[in-house]
Amino acid sequence: MSTETQEAGSPALIDRFGRHVDYVRISVTDRCDFRCVYCMNEDMRFVPRARLLTLEEILFVARAFTELGVRRIRLTGGEPLVRRNITWLLKEIHDLPGLDELLLTTNGSQLARLSGKIHDAGVRRINISLDSLRPERFRRITRNGDLGKVLSGIEVARSAGFDRIKINTVILKHYNDDEIIDLLRYVIAHSMDISFIEEMPLGVIGDHDRAASYYSSDDIRRDIERHFPLQASSEKTGGPARYFRIPETETRVGFISPHSHNFCSTCNRVRLTTEGRLLLCLGQEHSVDLRHVVRSWPGDIDILKQAIIDAMDLKPEGHDFQLDSRPVILRHMNVTGG
Ligand code: SAM
Ligand code: SF4
Repeated sequence: MSTETQEAGSPALIDRFGRHVDYVRISVTDRCDFRCVYCMNEDMRFVPRARLLTLEEILFVARAFTELGVRRIRLTGGEPLVRRNITWLLKEIHDLPGLDELLLTTNGSQLARLSGKIHDAGVRRINISLDSLRPERFRRITRNGDLGKVLSGIEVARSAGFDRIKINTVILKHYNDDEIIDLLRYVIAHSMDISFIEEMPLGVIGDHDRAASYYSSDDIRRDIERHFPLQASSEKTGGPARYFRIPETETRVGFISPHSHNFCSTCNRVRLTTEGRLLLCLGQEHSVDLRHVVRSWPGDIDILKQAIIDAMDLKPEGHDFQLDSRPVILRHMNVTGG
């Protein structure tokens, strides 16, 4: 049990199924300049600012996690780079003792402006979401995104000195399933990695039929193997992706397959929502209100750490995603922190 592990003096978060939690994803804002069809409704109502954790509160929670043995933190959202002073937060979290790696997931729209500062803050690997290389289609998927701006952001990021840049792509049938090879050629030409993500049923999205747009990782793999050989790789980057190499290139191809290859048994992650809710599973509602703890006992890190330790007992064995019924999870991905 987690509490016993703590009392034995080992700073580790272990859940009831023996899984060691050493990775936290933090959604620093639910706001975003895009409205991707699988992530948000067109007219989203965002959380009132007073209910969002402040940057200082996020840093305090991050510190509690690192003192409990968390080694890797990812900032995500919403679009993390639209939050004011985000580079301050990146630097502060990066400097926390015990943290091995600080990661960032972004839609790329602000990278032309911020890549240098993100790198200066200590971030060495970033994920950039990109679902199409065709401007009209990109706009259809993101509802208002400007592909040119994202591609120039990627160029600036490439020259900023990051160790690795990974492109995240959600493939949807009838939207972009015919662009898998083009996207792959693009990442190979620019020595980047790519992960293909199966769409997850998070939140009801009015005009989008998730079952109809589902395109499995196995389908994507089959499409790729018509053009490129894929060599299975045992590499791990701390997340749920299964990796393959394309021989004679620097590119790694990952598959994140919550439906077809459920990754729950090795899950090492928890998530912090914009409102400070600690989510023990992406696909379940088990959670603890850490904002309440932080605001009720300001500055008391021991009480916060105990709340996190106790929360481990709530981590469920796995998610329960169904594509063909109404989503059981009503929160959208931008709140959850993808
Ligand atoms: N705005 C940033 C971005 O787009 O990279 C960070 C937040 S976004 C929620 C993080 C990742 O989640 C993106 O790669 C996005 O494609 C993915 N995502 C969003 N909604 C999803 C869904 N319903 N199923 C699967 N992936 C989703
Ligand atoms: Fe914004 Fe990222 Fe969601 Fe797209 S996937 S709407 S970019 S938060």
